[in-house]
Amino acid sequence: MIKISNYINGQLENNSSNFIDVFNPSIGKVYAQCQDSSKKDLNKAIKSAENSFLEWSNKKQQDRSDFLFLIADLIEDRLDEFAEAESIDNGKPYTLSKSLDIPRSIKNLRFFAKIALEVEDPIYHQKDIISHILREPIGIVGTISPWNLPLYLFTWKIAPALVSGNCVIAKPSEITPYSAYLFSKVCMEAQLPSGVLNILHGRGELIGSEIVKHKKIKAISFTGGTKTGKKIAKETSKKMKKISLEMGGKNPVIIFDDCDYNKMINSILKSSFLNQGQICLAGSRIYIQDTIYEKFKKDFLIRIKKMKIGNPFKKNIDQGAIVSLQHLNKLKKYVEYAKNQKGKILIGGEKPDIKGKCSSGWYFYPTVIEDLPQDSNLNQDEIFGPIVTISKFRSNEEVVKMANNTDYGLAAIIWTENLIKANKLSKVLESGLVWINCWLERDLRTPFGGIKNSGFGKEGGKYALDFFTEPKNVCIKYDKNTV
Ligand code: NAD
Repeated sequence: MIKISNYINGQLENNSSNFIDVFNPSIGKVYAQCQDSSKKDLNKAIKSAENSFLEWSNKKQQDRSDFLFLIADLIEDRLDEFAEAESIDNGKPYTLSKSLDIPRSIKNLRFFAKIALEVEDPIYHQKDIISHILREPIGIVGTISPWNLPLYLFTWKIAPALVSGNCVIAKPSEITPYSAYLFSKVCMEAQLPSGVLNILHGRGELIGSEIVKHKKIKAISFTGGTKTGKKIAKETSKKMKKISLEMGGKNPVIIFDDCDYNKMINSILKSSFLNQGQICLAGSRIYIQDTIYEKFKKDFLIRIKKMKIGNPFKKNIDQGAIVSLQHLNKLKKYVEYAKNQKGKILIGGEKPDIKGKCSSGWYFYPTVIEDLPQDSNLNQDEIFGPIVTISKFRSNEEVVKMANNTDYGLAAIIWTENLIKANKLSKVLESGLVWINCWLERDLRTPFGGIKNSGFGKEGGKYALDFFTEPKNVCIKYDKNTV
């Protein structure tokens, strides 16, 4: 049985006698146990972070960046091992871990290491005054990440935090702790100074909430569900902590009859079902112009029938396992809700029949449902799985109204060859991000984050560096007589 240790003060530690079972969803069995950290572990981590802060924050930018470059190289050398860990832990296809999750984690580290070297802060001149802006780290910061893109989102937070000179207490999801554990081993190999990064495993309601509450942690960067994000906002407001919250989504996809049809349908399969639909940016409400509704429906279902679901380690698998039994049960519950509301299940809605060693794993067939009212919980709640709803629209006004009819506002996707129309719609769609004729394209320099119940604050590029630093204005007045 693999034991997943904390990483505190540069060492792997198992101080807590409490462990949490970690499951391999593809077979539905426990394969590891991770630390269920306590406040004692947190205090130890905080102490080591405090001891390291001065030296780390005073290092040259190039030296901090070099550590991130080195860690990225070491992960790249172990690409297969990391990809395997991610798929065992999460259930996602190995090909996806190897082509998306781990390469993007490496890219996050390199991107922030590089951009921190390039960022320029302004100097303002007046007659006899010069004001220059110092970008200072905050101190000790907490990062809390979810299970759907474990190492990808873990590195997306710790990279800008570390490179800006902060010391970090990082909490990965207790459901998928494995790749963060491997990451701690790589940090040790890279000889990252002790205490600069501490990784604490364990339950959100226990160690997560202790991190949020701790008075020495000055900022919290969180990615996860909206319910948790709201709890964090409430708690941190008591201590006036800086927060960034990246939360759930219920993203609309708007398909016009003048789109590039083949490109669109290939992309919709991905935006609906990639990573078993467990992506905050997934397009879960699909709106199709009435003129192509029936054709789209037919073609979409034909494509879905060709998808291969099963063992994430098998070749050509499109969809692996759902992350947990609890999450699988949630998906089943939503199908029951749909049936009760007279929704028509066009395909899926059940567990596929998987043979062999994965027969006890947690799988769910890609599911498409139509004829549901817009205020149905299937069109309102974030289901976060391979379930999409389809609805038809007749006019731009109607589809904007339907698309905005949600408490979420993370991403929206538009398919049309008419870019003037698409641009006009982008302005009125309530979301932090609009993709036109594409999905999941990311330029890491751009701001990332939602509005409404999807988020508070932006990550990415300079926006993340801004979050993890405080600008200080240093104003110098010259003596008029100075030559
Ligand atoms: P979650 O909110 O249950 O957990 C996220 C993290 O928060 C975990 O590490 C968990 O242990 C921790 N946590 C739980 N309760 C806590 C508490 N009281 N205090 C502090 N920490 C706590 O979310 P999840 O189920 O792991 O992830 C799925 C959610 O994440 C979905 O809603 C998805 O949309 C969202 N997500 C958002 C983005 C984004 O960028 N907007 C990206 C990925 C996932």
